[in-house]
Amino acid sequence: MLVTLAGVVPDVDGLGAFAEILTRNSERPLDWWSRYHHVLCHNVGFGLVVALVACFFASRRLVTGGLALLSFHLHLAGDVAGARGPDGYQWPIPYFLPFSDIWQITWSGQWALNGWPNFLITALLLGLALYWAWRRGFSAVELVSGKADEVLVSALRERFGTPAGFAPGSAEREG
Ligand SMILES: [Zn+2]
Repeated sequence: MLVTLAGVVPDVDGLGAFAEILTRNSERPLDWWSRYHHVLCHNVGFGLVVALVACFFASRRLVTGGLALLSFHLHLAGDVAGARGPDGYQWPIPYFLPFSDIWQITWSGQWALNGWPNFLITALLLGLALYWAWRRGFSAVELVSGKADEVLVSALRERFGTPAGFAPGSAEREG
């Protein structure tokens, strides 16, 4: 759960969008989204904080902290690769903040946030996640609800059969 959270937490700096939308017609509009999104939490300083927090809450501290740091960087890589805005803005990543703002990472090949590569990658990864759920008997759904996870796995196994040599009890039922 900590590693998963580390992979999505950078986008909390986008929550200023609510304040920006709500105040845009007021006398003193807030520009928290335009100013802070991809700045506050998309940098190595925040990544280190995330890894330390993951270490603190984990029982296997080093592994969890390391994987949290990796997951955090996967988020940044995803943003650089395929998160161009509808207006063409690339949302550069000020990676070395808060230590230095000299390096703003962008990539000339970046595709749009709603571009086809993102749909393709999502479909492939969902397929892989469902395959693993079928094969191993549990999925990421267990992070939210163990019961819902059981329902998902049993639905997959009813539809596609029980993986060979994996769960003898279920295999018996199938045979
Ligand atoms: Zn992001």
